This record gives sequence, C-alpha cells and structure tokens, in this order.
Amino acid sequence: MDNVFFKDEYHIPHTCEKCGGVMVFKGVGEYRCEDCGAVAYDDYGKVRLYIEEHRGATAAQIESAIGIPQRTIRHMLKEGRLEVTADSRTFLYCEVCGKPIRSGRYCPECEIKVHRMMEAEQREKHHKEIEGFGFSQKGEEGQKRFTRG
Ligand SMILES: [Zn+2]
Ligand SMILES: [Zn+2]
Repeated sequence: MDNVFFKDEYHIPHTCEKCGGVMVFKGVGEYRCEDCGAVAYDDYGKVRLYIEEHRGATAAQIESAIGIPQRTIRHMLKEGRLEVTADSRTFLYCEVCGKPIRSGRYCPECEIKVHRMMEAEQREKHHKEIEGFGFSQKGEEGQKRFTRG
C-alpha cells in the first residue's frame, strides 16, 4: 500500500517558522517547537482542526479555506485517517450509487455488489483462460511437472 503520510505529502512541518527549532510530533497532525513551543500542523492536522471548528464542511469548502486539495482530503478519508462526523454533511459519495458515505469508496450495499461483480469478472476470465489459452500454457505446466520430479 502506498503511504502518502511517510512520503511527506502531508507537508509535515520540520522546522519552526518562528525560531528555526525542531518541530516535535505531538499526535493527530500536531507539532510543537521544542525551543519556543510554537504549534504547527501538517495537512492532516489542518483538515482535522478545520472539521472540528466547522462541522458539516464539505471538501470543497475545506479546500478553499485552508488550501488542502480535495484529492488529499479524500485520500485521508480512504485511508481511514479521517472520519466524517455523524452530524456533518458528507463530502464523500459512493462511487456506484452516489449515496453519502463516511469513509471508503462505496456504501456497504454497493461494496458487496462491487465485490460480486469483480468475482463474476474473475470467474469469467478464469473460464476463458481455461477454454481459450489452455493449450498454450502446456509448456509451462510441463516444466512445473518436471521440477516437481
Ligand atoms: Zn520555535
Ligand atoms: Zn452505493
């Protein structure tokens, strides 16, 4: 899995803007300068803070208010780093039916449907492989048989 957090795409503050001291991670996206105590946030911390203060904010509102791209916000949601609060207006929608969801890509019903579709597709592909390309695989099979001794 790609982990944007450790790739530093969340813009982690490393040095204090006020005194140049080292920013120490305090948790949930918050950092504090070990010299002067100034507090700074990475993108995750900023989004979290904004949502706390502006319950019901949409991804578009967050983007225009604090300049964090909607793509990043959605990524945080998908990673499970953020969860839309129950009383908040959702800014994540099921990719199949468009129903508001709190995290991930699909609503629970569509997630099952998507999995069933993928399984059916896989079944069909598997079936085709057996029917269409079965004979071309023989060489490989023979090799396997050979190594098995
Ligand atoms: Zn400082
Ligand atoms: Zn759905």
